[in-house]
Amino acid sequence: MKITIVAGARPNFIKIAPLIKAIKKKQTEGVCISFRLIHTGQHYDKNLSDTFFEELNIPKPDCNLDVKSSSQSVQTAAIMIAFEQELLQNPCDVVVVVGDVNSTMSCAIVAKKLNIKVAHIEAGIRSGDRTMPEEINRIVTDSISDYFFTTSKSASDNLLKLGFDKNDIHFVGNVMIDTLYQNLSRITKPFFWDEYQLASENYIVLTLHRPSNVDEQESLKKLLLGIDALAQDKKIVFPIHPRTKAILENSAVTFKNIIFVEPLGYLSFMYLIKNCLAVITDSGGISEETTVLGIPCFTLRENTERPETESIGTNTLVGISVDKLIIAYNSFLKDRKKNYGIPELWDGKSSERIIAVLLTVFSPLELK
Ligand code: UDP
Repeated sequence: MKITIVAGARPNFIKIAPLIKAIKKKQTEGVCISFRLIHTGQHYDKNLSDTFFEELNIPKPDCNLDVKSSSQSVQTAAIMIAFEQELLQNPCDVVVVVGDVNSTMSCAIVAKKLNIKVAHIEAGIRSGDRTMPEEINRIVTDSISDYFFTTSKSASDNLLKLGFDKNDIHFVGNVMIDTLYQNLSRITKPFFWDEYQLASENYIVLTLHRPSNVDEQESLKKLLLGIDALAQDKKIVFPIHPRTKAILENSAVTFKNIIFVEPLGYLSFMYLIKNCLAVITDSGGISEETTVLGIPCFTLRENTERPETESIGTNTLVGISVDKLIIAYNSFLKDRKKNYGIPELWDGKSSERIIAVLLTVFSPLELK
């Protein structure tokens, strides 16, 4: 079986690492399976790309489409044009796309137009918010995928309700959590740990990159000032996403508690998360990791496509208002004793399940 794996952005790199490991394990067992790794170049900063390849031992991509940043449509079109050439030159049995970024959707469309099967990992999740580019990517990708790998039963149910065949929907768990389990013993102190006198639970971690929170300078400043005040005596470590940094540039504002740092590599970021008091974020992936680590997470969004992080895990949706965040944070400070669980099948074995399913679908008789 020949697989083409597509990855374009930071969360994608984290999700493909354990898949590649699972494929390599099958290869050592003598199974006829090979892969080609395509980096679309959607994220290209060292901090958002190369570092993850190095730290997570992801092989060098076979091809980099090198699309870089641009508007949603220009980027989507650039990925499609380049990926079509790649697939024509290197045909495969199945294209595997992960998550919900532009690369996910663009490459799924190209593959289907060339009559190649598409497997979508992290299929079926929905925020219901069509103003998010990621939601459009999810809807389009799922609408043309052939095989759906889901992180939760509710994601599988979403697909069933949309009329997809239950035989094509595979509830396998969460590949991002595979990466977390595979690397927990390797996490390392960020280089600034001692400089800022960080210690277990004496700081909060903040990440923000969603357009609804960061694209308007005045409201971003207001949000950050509110978070800065909420922390009282706690430091807030803020690995700032390039998108957010660009908006804040030239804004004459100072903060008492917020420590701005560059986006971190996976191993030092996870060290920071594992040891913090709480996380404030608008990231979906981070709310999954905090769920597994039992770290309180406050999500600055009105909705989530990952409801299990709230119903089972440690996540609290606070909307985009700082007032609701303050209420939720203060109530957490008063009563920290909460029982949290880990969602079903978030056990570190999801990638192996996915590869096992793909090997069954592309039965040895069909192998090329
Ligand atoms: N992450 C990281 N360094 C950082 C910020 C995030 O390694 O400075 C990791 C984080 O642990 C998670 C992933 O990046 O695994 C989430 O990426 P992001 O928030 O960009 O994407 P989203 O989850 O919102 O799609």
